[in-house]
Amino acid sequence: MMGAENSEFNMRGGKIGRRAFLKGAAAAGLVGLAAYGGVRYTGYRSSGAKAKIVVIGGGAAGISAAARLMMILKEPDITIIDPSDKHFYQPGFTLIASGVYSPDEVYKSQADCIPSGAKWVKDSVVALDADKRIVTTSKGEKISYDFLVLTPGLVYDWDLIEGIDPKALGTGNAHCIYEHEGAIKTWDAIKKFVKNGGKGIFTDTYTKHKCGGAPKKITLLTEHLARKNGTRERLSFNFYTASPELYDVPYYTPRLLEIYAERNVPINLNTRIVGVDTAAKKVHFRKTEKSADGSAKVSDFKEDYEFLHFLPPMGTPKFVRESGLSATNGSHAKEGWVDVDKGTLVSKKYPNIISFGDASNLPTSKTSAAIRKQVPIAVANLVSIMEGKQPQQIYDGYAACPIITDYGHVLMCEFDYSKKQKNTFPLPLLFDMSKEQYVAWLMKVYLLKPMYFYGMLNGLV
Ligand SMILES: Cc1cc2nc3c(=O)[nH]c(=O)nc-3n(C[C@H](O)[C@H](O)[C@H](O)COP(=O)(O)OP(=O)(O)OC[C@H]3O[C@@H](n4cnc5c(N)ncnc54)[C@H](O)[C@@H]3O)c2cc1C
Repeated sequence: MMGAENSEFNMRGGKIGRRAFLKGAAAAGLVGLAAYGGVRYTGYRSSGAKAKIVVIGGGAAGISAAARLMMILKEPDITIIDPSDKHFYQPGFTLIASGVYSPDEVYKSQADCIPSGAKWVKDSVVALDADKRIVTTSKGEKISYDFLVLTPGLVYDWDLIEGIDPKALGTGNAHCIYEHEGAIKTWDAIKKFVKNGGKGIFTDTYTKHKCGGAPKKITLLTEHLARKNGTRERLSFNFYTASPELYDVPYYTPRLLEIYAERNVPINLNTRIVGVDTAAKKVHFRKTEKSADGSAKVSDFKEDYEFLHFLPPMGTPKFVRESGLSATNGSHAKEGWVDVDKGTLVSKKYPNIISFGDASNLPTSKTSAAIRKQVPIAVANLVSIMEGKQPQQIYDGYAACPIITDYGHVLMCEFDYSKKQKNTFPLPLLFDMSKEQYVAWLMKVYLLKPMYFYGMLNGLV
C-alpha cells in the first residue's frame, strides 16, 4: 500500500491514544457480545408448514432468509437460484478502495454460503410468471414454486452514463468502487492521485442506489490520505450529489456538514452525472434548480478532473421489471423496484411472494444492515402465510450506514422510516453517536464482516 507502506500511517488503526484504544476495544467487545449473545432467533424447527420455496438471488438477503427458513421449518424444501461463484461482502469494497482490506478478504465461495440442506440452482432467472408461479432460468429450466423469496438485488445501468464502458472501467481515471474489480482499480488510482495531485471529483447518482454513504466515505478517506501523506495542498476535492441535501437524517447531518466544511470539500446539490469524456477527462453534469414558482431550471456544464469517482444509475434486473411486480408510479418507477408492503415485506400483488433488500421499493436505505433487520420479519411473515395465517411482524425501516470519515473514525448512522436516530448497538451509553467515533471504526473494520459471514448468513443475527 503506497502511502500506508511508505509512511508510518496504519490503514487499519489510525493514530489513536492508548486510552481511546482501550475504551474503544471495551465498547467493541460489548457490541460483539450484544450482537452474538442477543441472537433473536427462537423457534428452531417450530413450523410444520410444507411448501416449495424458491429464493431468487443468494446475496445478503436471500442467503440469510434461506438459512433462517432452514432452521424454522421442520421439513424445508428450499431452492436457491443464483449464478455467482463468489459471495461478496460488498461493504468491504470501500475498504479495499482505501487500502484497509486486501481484495481477497471480502468474499467466500458461494458454495460455502448456501445453507446446508438447501438446493442450489447455479443459473440466472430470466423470466418470472407470478400468475403461474414459475420462474425460467437462462438455461431454459422452468422451476415452479408455492412461495417465492424475491431477492436478486439490483443492477448497474452503466449505459445511462454516456462515455462509460463498464468493461474498461478506470479508463480516463474514472472509477467506481461498486464492484470488486472497480474497488481494486480505485485504490491504485487513489494512491497515484494522492501522490501527483490534481482536481478530484466525487459524485453519487440520481436513482435509488445501494449504500448512499459509500461515495461520501471514499471522498473523505481520500482527503484524509492526502493529509497523512503531506500532499493535501496539491489536491482539490469537490462533491456532487443528485439529492437536495447531503444527508437526510437530522441527528447526523450537522456533523457531516461540519466535516465537509472543515476538510474543505465543497458540496454541490441537485447535480447529477450525465456522462464522462474519458479521453479529455471531463465530466458532464446536469443541475436542476427549483424556482419559487415550482418550475425547474435545468443547466448542463462540464468540469475537468484528474481523478473521478462516480456511481452508475441503478435499478432491478430485467426479469423483475418485466414481472408486473414493480411499483408503477412515483419518480423511481422506471427503476422497477418490487412493490411490497413496507411493514410486512409481502408483495402488494401476490401474497405468496416476499421481497426485501436492494430489489424492493422499501423506503429506506439499501444496506445489508437494513437487511439484517428485514430478514427476521420477512421470514416470520412468510412462515405465517404458509401456515394459513396473516403476517404479523412489522418492519420499522431500520437501516444503518457507517460513514467512514477518516482512517480511524466512523459516523455510525442508525435510523428508521421516520429518519429518527435508532441505535441497536449499546454505544450511546459511552459515546456521543452524533459524532464520528473510533469505536465505530473498530466495529466497521473488525466486527461487521465476521458478523455478516458467520452471523447473518447463518440466519443468526
Ligand atoms: C461499495 C459498497 C459499499 C457498501 N457499504 C455498505 C455498508 O457500509 N453497510 C451496509 O450495510 N451495506 C453496504 N452496502 C450495501 C449492501 O452490500 C447491499 O445493500 C446488500 O448486499 C444487498 O443485499 P441483496 O441480497 O439485496 O443483494 P446482493 O447482496 O447484491 O445479492 C443479490 C444476489 O442476487 C443474484 N442475482 C442477481 N440477478 C439474478 C438473477 N437474474 N437470477 C438469480 N440470481 C440473481 C446475485 O448473483 C447476488 O448473489 C454497500 C454496497 C456497496 C456496493
